[in-house]
Amino acid sequence: MTKLVDCHSTLIANFGMPVWENPTEFMMEAVFKHEGMKYRYISTEVPADKLEAAFAGVKAMGYKGFNCTLPHKQKIIPLLDGLGESAELMGAVNCVVERKGQYIGENTDGKGYTESLKEITQIAGKTLLILGAGGAARAIAVECALEKAKKIIIVNRTQTSGQELAQLVEEKTASRGDFISLDGEVQVPEGVDIVINATNIGLYPDTTKVPIDMTSLKPNMVVSDVIPNPPQTPFIKEATALGCTTIDGLGMLVNQGKIAIKYWSGKEVDSNVMRQSLLDLFS
Ligand code: NDP
Repeated sequence: MTKLVDCHSTLIANFGMPVWENPTEFMMEAVFKHEGMKYRYISTEVPADKLEAAFAGVKAMGYKGFNCTLPHKQKIIPLLDGLGESAELMGAVNCVVERKGQYIGENTDGKGYTESLKEITQIAGKTLLILGAGGAARAIAVECALEKAKKIIIVNRTQTSGQELAQLVEEKTASRGDFISLDGEVQVPEGVDIVINATNIGLYPDTTKVPIDMTSLKPNMVVSDVIPNPPQTPFIKEATALGCTTIDGLGMLVNQGKIAIKYWSGKEVDSNVMRQSLLDLFS
């Protein structure tokens, strides 16, 4: 006896260069399987000068969307039909979603971070210190400002990008934006509620110490790291030992993926499956 079998899957890509070290495909495929979703997530190396051709391929083959990572987060913008609020403010897109034939750029990085933070504390009215002023710091600062943080202090080694991010917060959102130039180790000022390492420091195999004076951390502070590998960075371990409430980098990674799946499929998936798949991968 024969039967008809639907072998078609909805396609999602991850465009970047390189993408070999990006673990997103593992957690996406794991949760698609767990939820019985006929979706495929395909990491695809796309050089900067081939982005336009790759995007034409997405449209031709009817992809539901794609993530984009370096070097495409800004370059994709002029090719799109529109932007979500935070992507517009950040000037960076990490998630493209097909909606009624239009490809709209979103940024789920900052939302992924705020989701994991909100599991522990509210953001409205809080003072944050963010170490770093690159893509991750920018996403976190903008999204926390949209969540009505009181003040966001940017600490960065390079003054121009640090000042520019503090100014973006100050001028384009209702939060206050301050800048501290990183010179040696930064002392966390009195009144800070949430401290975030949003630099590359600690990403395996880097063993550089995060330049924060750990004696200036207080047990009532929430301390978080964007580094997903290893999940328990030395910075997170030390802050935990000091009595701070801590959030590892898997929280942001898992939640940005969960939000992206909701955008592409409308479905709320089980983030525990995504987190476990990454823990298995990095163990
Ligand atoms: P960028 O290259 O855009 O920015 C890097 C930032 O780190 C800059 O502010 C840079 O300072 C700072 N920095 C790097 N090395 C040092 C150092 N030795 N001392 C002081 N400052 C330093 O990177 P991204 O923002 O895109 O990514 C940062 C990290 O965040 C990566 O490790 C990435 O894996 C992680 N990430 C995690 C996500 C998650 O979901 N968990 C999502 C996105 C990113 P300067 O400006 O002076 O160069």
